[in-house]
Amino acid sequence: MFIFSGKGVYGGIADGEISVFKKQEIEVRRREITDTEAEKQRVETAKRLSKEQLRMIYEKALKEVGETNASVFEIHIMMLDDEDFNESVRNIIDTQKVNAEYAVWITGENFAEIFASMDDAYMKERSADIRDISGRILRNLSDGEAVATSDEGKVIICASDLAPSETVLLDKERVLAFVTAHGSLNSHTAILARNMNIPAIVGVGEELLLKVRNGDRGIVDGFTGELFLNPDEKTVERLSQKKRDDEEKKKLLNKLRGKENVTLDGKRINIFANIGGVDNIGAVLVNDAGGIGLFRSEFLYLESSNFPTEEQQLTAYRKVLESMAGKKVIIRTLDIGADKQVAYFGLEKEENPALGYRAIRICLTRPEIFKTQLRALYRASAYGNLGIMFPMITSTDELSQILNICEQVKNDLEKDKIPISERVELGIMIETPAAAIISDKLAPMCDFFSVGTNDLTQYTLACDRQNPRVEQFCDTHHEGILRLIEFSAKNIHKNGGWIGICGELAADTTLTETFLRMGIDELSVSPSYVLKVREAVRNTDLSNKNTSEN
Ligand code: PEP
Ligand code: MG
Repeated sequence: MFIFSGKGVYGGIADGEISVFKKQEIEVRRREITDTEAEKQRVETAKRLSKEQLRMIYEKALKEVGETNASVFEIHIMMLDDEDFNESVRNIIDTQKVNAEYAVWITGENFAEIFASMDDAYMKERSADIRDISGRILRNLSDGEAVATSDEGKVIICASDLAPSETVLLDKERVLAFVTAHGSLNSHTAILARNMNIPAIVGVGEELLLKVRNGDRGIVDGFTGELFLNPDEKTVERLSQKKRDDEEKKKLLNKLRGKENVTLDGKRINIFANIGGVDNIGAVLVNDAGGIGLFRSEFLYLESSNFPTEEQQLTAYRKVLESMAGKKVIIRTLDIGADKQVAYFGLEKEENPALGYRAIRICLTRPEIFKTQLRALYRASAYGNLGIMFPMITSTDELSQILNICEQVKNDLEKDKIPISERVELGIMIETPAAAIISDKLAPMCDFFSVGTNDLTQYTLACDRQNPRVEQFCDTHHEGILRLIEFSAKNIHKNGGWIGICGELAADTTLTETFLRMGIDELSVSPSYVLKVREAVRNTDLSNKNTSEN
C-alpha cells in the first residue's frame, strides 16, 4: 500500500480501479513559412472550431453544474477573442515568418507565465485556463479535439492536472473520483468537482504518475485528501465503513432538503450560507440555504488585478441577487487587510496586521473606494433583497460616518434617476469586543448585527487566528465570547432588530441549542453545512429548561 496526501476538494469515499489520464501530447515544431496570410487564416479557422467545441462544453456544463459554474467556458470563449492574445499570435507569424502552431504555443506560454508569476492565488490559477485555451487551438490546428475519456467501467482518474474543460467532459457515470498531481483548491477544476459532487483530491505531488498504473486499486478519501494505492485489508475495511457511514449521513441529510429550520417545540430560525463569490451560488441552492448571510465581497478585489469598477461589481452583486430570486442576500463591504492582502491597494507592511489598517478603516479613510462599492451595491439592490453590512466596527462614530456616506451615495443615485430598492437593511458585524460591549449604543443605529466569531474570538482571547501555535489557547466556546454574543443579541432585540452569526462557530452544532436559547435569528454557514445545522435545529427541544441555560 502507498498513501498519497493532497488537498481534499470534495468529501466522499471512492473505491475502484485507477485509470491514468494522459493528455494528448501536442508536439509543436517551429517551421518557417512564406505565406503569412494563410497561417493567420489557419488560426482563425482553429479558433472558430474551438468556439464551437466550447459552446458544446458550455451546454453540457450548464446542465450538469449550473449556469454559474458553466460560466468559466463562456469566459474561455471570450478569451479566444482577446485582442492582446490574437495580436501577439499575428505579430509572431508576421515578424518571424513562422507556422501558426508555433505562434499560438509561444503566445499561450507567455500569457500563462505572466499569470503564474502573479502574487494573487486566484490569478495564478488563471494560467491553467490560458493553457487550456491555447492547447485547444493547437489541437484544432492539427487533427481535432481531444476529449478526456476514461476506460470502460467506473474508474478513479489520476492525472497530472485537469483543465476545467477536461473536467466537465469527464463522464460522471464512469468517474468515481479524480486525483491530480498538481492544482489547487482555488482552481476552476476544483470548483467544478465540488459542484459535480465527485470526490476529488488535488496537489498530491509528482510521485502520483510515477507510482500509479492503469488497473491498480485505489481508495480516495476526499475528506482527508488521501489516496490509498493498492490498500491493505485493514484500510479497505476501515474506509468501506467510512463510505457506508458517509452515504447514510448524506441520505439522511438529503431528506432535510425543503424542510423547515424549526425546533421540536416550534422555534424557527434562518439558516443562510456564506459565499466568497458568484461561483458559490450553485452550492447555496443545492444545499437549500434560505439566503446568503455573508458574501465576502473582498474576493472580488482579491481576484482582480486592479480595483474592480462600479460596473464590474454591479454585475457580480446583481448576479447573486438575481440567482437568489428574492431571498435575502447580505453583502459585506470590503474587508481587506490583515490576512487578505491585495498588492494594488499599496498597503504598507505592518507589525500587527490584525490590529492594523484593515476593513472599514480603509473604507473610511479612502472614501473613493468605499463610495464605488456602495454605488454598485445600491444599484444592485434593485434586483433582489439586499442587506449591506460593515466589518470591524468599534465605535458609534464609525457607524455615523458610514451612514452619512450611504445617504450621500443614495442621494447621488436618486439625482441621477438610477433605480434602487427602497428597503436595504444596514447592519454591522460584531467582531470586536468593543462593538459587543457598546452594542446597546450601536443597536438603535442599524437594522441587524452579524457576529463574526472568527475575529471576535481572536480579539477577545488575544489569539492570532493565523498563528497555529496559539490554537490550543483559543477556546472558541469561551464564556467571554458567548456572553458578548448574548449581550449583543439582547441589545439588538430591544431595538427591534435581528442578529445572526456568520463566523465558523455558527456551524458548530454543539452550540446550536445555546444560540437558539440566546434568541439568535440566523446562522450563516458554509453551504455544505446548511443541512447539518438544520438537522441540529430540528433535533433541539427548547422547552426542556434543564439544559444549557447561558
Ligand atoms: C469573522 O470574523 O467571523 C468573519 C465572518 O469574517 P472573516 O472570517 O471574513 O474575517
Ligand atoms: Mg472577520
